[in-house]
Amino acid sequence: MDTIITRFPPSPTGYLHIGGARTALFNWLYTRKTGGKFVLRIEDTDQARSTKESVDAIFESLEWLGIDWDEGPFFQTRRYDIYKEYIQKLVDSGHAYYCNCTSEEVDAMREEARAAGKKPMYNGKCRDKNLTPGPGMVVRIKAPRTGSTVVEDVVKGNTSFPNSELDDFIIQRSDGSPMYNLAVVVDDLTMGINTIIRGDDHLVNTPKQILLYKALGAELPLFAHVPMVLGSDKARLSKRHGAMSVSEYRDMGYLPDAMLNYLVRLGWSFGDQEFFTRKDLIEKFSLDHIGKSPSMFDMDKLTALNAKHIQAATPKELAVMLIPFLEKQGIAVAQGPALELAIETLQPRSKTLVEMAQSAVFYFKEEVELEEKAAKKFLKKATLPTLELTAGYMEALDEFTQENLEDALKKVMEEAELKFGKIAQPLRVALTGTTVSPGIFEMILALGKNKTIHRIKKAMDYVESLPE
Ligand code: GLU
Repeated sequence: MDTIITRFPPSPTGYLHIGGARTALFNWLYTRKTGGKFVLRIEDTDQARSTKESVDAIFESLEWLGIDWDEGPFFQTRRYDIYKEYIQKLVDSGHAYYCNCTSEEVDAMREEARAAGKKPMYNGKCRDKNLTPGPGMVVRIKAPRTGSTVVEDVVKGNTSFPNSELDDFIIQRSDGSPMYNLAVVVDDLTMGINTIIRGDDHLVNTPKQILLYKALGAELPLFAHVPMVLGSDKARLSKRHGAMSVSEYRDMGYLPDAMLNYLVRLGWSFGDQEFFTRKDLIEKFSLDHIGKSPSMFDMDKLTALNAKHIQAATPKELAVMLIPFLEKQGIAVAQGPALELAIETLQPRSKTLVEMAQSAVFYFKEEVELEEKAAKKFLKKATLPTLELTAGYMEALDEFTQENLEDALKKVMEEAELKFGKIAQPLRVALTGTTVSPGIFEMILALGKNKTIHRIKKAMDYVESLPE
């Protein structure tokens, strides 16, 4: 089989949105699975709406998702000479022609067709005039008038479009710039693209593109038009359904792997498997499991999947990603065992990196801030002896281990004649300032001896300062 060559051709008129990222992902996965090539192309011919910021935002989001490309980025605006060359070929071979009809004339033709109950279109007035280039001239394709154009699609099956509805569409504007469909086909041809996976909102363009392939004597690529992503109310996904851009999800603390996992499931399935690693996806992805109906974006599902990916990641992997979130909380901490131990205690209880960073703050702050309610309930005069005993036994330990900590607390329980809960809860408040935290032993191990003892002593000072 020929090498699979796919592409992702975003129009840089905004951020990379959920639907675009899914399209990129499907193409990328299919390429990585088959050992093919993935081309990135920026469709920036709409110069009024395309911006450098959008281009950068798209690159940044793709990089964050770990979707890398083998060729490009190619920019359409830098390829006008190539488009011109192909337009000339089409004119020379009699597949296209110059037209000097004014827009008023074309409007009148459309009106006439409409009045006759037909689809509004150009009537082919200049088709056989053999006009030569000149000011105000556009180039139109000579579309077939009879028969039909069939789009063969691996997802949708065959869709037939009557040629009588295809008009002699413009391929070059009067200012010499190429029209969208022409640029896409010339690019796909010259870049060797043989597999086109895209949203089914583009299906309307495909008959026109097929016509251009045929006029150029070129072989058709394989088409896979993927159903749209909808909001939970089945309306087309938009801002009111939640964040649309990939970078917003990054900032909300979703992991790139969770995002990939969620995006792929918007339209593709593998039995009833829900959790996929990146490696898994590359192994299992295939075009024949792309669904025929639109999928619905569901934030809660994404969040649940994110929690699973947080649990599956190594503390080291999470550390790199968590540091910027900790910085936002005012915590500067370097990568290393202290951070990784803390992360390990938080993995089972964090749904996002934002949550994880918030819950990690207490580990790294110089001093614990006691929550008023927690302190009132658990740090009372009567707690002082147990805190003192705990600090004493802990100070006597050379190094903290799960066993010797358990041992130390057992001794405190015996001496104070108290149950575990009665000593653990004040200790928790002393160490974290709150009543919710990871398990007491794993937390103490992550906190380390110095900080633990320092915090217990601070809590003792606090208790001592309380009025009688
Ligand atoms: N530039 C188009 C878009 O951003 C994609 C065109 C295509 O895939 O053929 O929607």
